Amino acid sequence: MLSINENYLKLNENYLFSDIAKKVAAYEKENPEKEIIRLGIGDVTLPLAPAIIEALHIAVDEQSNPATFRGYSPDLGYSFLRELIAEKDFTDHGCEVYSDEIFVSDGAKSDSGNIQEIFGQDVIVALGDPVYPVYLDSNTMSGRTGVYDEATGKFSGIVYLPTSAENNFVPSLPSRHADLIYLCYPNNPTGTTLTKDELQAWVDYANEEKAVIIFDAAYEAYISEENIPHSIYECEGARTCAIEIRSFSKIAGFTGLRLGFTVVPKDLLVDGHSVRDLWARRHGTKFNGAPYIIQRAGAAVYTEEGQKQIAEQITYYMNNAKVIREGLIASGFEVFGGINAPYVWLKTPEGMGSWEFFDFLLKNAQIVGTPGSGFGPSGEGYFRLTGFGNAEKTQEAVRRITQLFAV
Ligand code: PLP
Repeated sequence: MLSINENYLKLNENYLFSDIAKKVAAYEKENPEKEIIRLGIGDVTLPLAPAIIEALHIAVDEQSNPATFRGYSPDLGYSFLRELIAEKDFTDHGCEVYSDEIFVSDGAKSDSGNIQEIFGQDVIVALGDPVYPVYLDSNTMSGRTGVYDEATGKFSGIVYLPTSAENNFVPSLPSRHADLIYLCYPNNPTGTTLTKDELQAWVDYANEEKAVIIFDAAYEAYISEENIPHSIYECEGARTCAIEIRSFSKIAGFTGLRLGFTVVPKDLLVDGHSVRDLWARRHGTKFNGAPYIIQRAGAAVYTEEGQKQIAEQITYYMNNAKVIREGLIASGFEVFGGINAPYVWLKTPEGMGSWEFFDFLLKNAQIVGTPGSGFGPSGEGYFRLTGFGNAEKTQEAVRRITQLFAV
């Protein structure tokens, strides 16, 4: 008899962004004269940099010429892009990563959702909390839902690694063994980071426990402070225990174009099996390659002009984050992030719940943010604002908050 994958029924009813949209639409309808400012967005707003647009035009023209037309791209990505990534993102920064360990994809969401499927069903998954919800949902879809088997004493499922102001957003090593560990730094939603020593402790733990770390570095380009690792491969021993996922979305505005990559080192073995080879097999079976045109646009990110132009965009977003951060601090808020990531994470005032604060801010200042509880249980009592908006509107939003919470 036809049935569905019951694990899908175990997914949290995560209506975060649709609930936000509904509340905002209802408020707009009742208050058409009020100007709403959206600081909840995790999407970029600046247009693509000229160097990227130029590369796109050239690649489109190539597709019109029989001599330069390209059909299916290689499963793992074109070597022109993989070699650039290996050199510019890793070798130049002292990390040992080779081009045949890089898998180009259509973005970090797909990779971070798919990577779990090459690991066994009964693995114990440790997840940052709060964090990007894809890791939890993709493991839930695969049936890792937190089951403790009395007979065998075996637990398979999810273990949270709670972070909050109390532990300075640095998760403790798990108290019980974990097999697959998701770390996202700089973190979405908290905007916080780990120092190199803190990350090294995780790498050491993973090597000792024969665990694998999935390190999501989608916001790596926003790091401004020294001693914050841009890649997990800056840590000693990471090649035997870590997979790194990156995205062109937030560093170069590719949220609509779609491009990312995953690094799976050849030294990473599980039960004697090469994870890199299995991921290559999976990629070859289920993915037909990122579009040639988009990979050419990705290569333009690494040119001198490309680098200069995207640095200007990152500065623009980080200025917004700074304006939000400083405005909130001046208004008496407890604030985190916003220094190495475009996300500012604030403690809601007077013990308000995350959604309560959402309603309060919308009603009294016409500002839309994201309730922290949408990113995991430890996000309750926190709220996320982002620097991805327009600079003038961000300043206006901060002016409204300052007025509302004048100390
Ligand atoms: N990883 C994290 C931590 C993110 O916050 C996001 C997007 O918000 C992604 C991955 C998705 O990136 P992409 O657009 O490459 O799919």
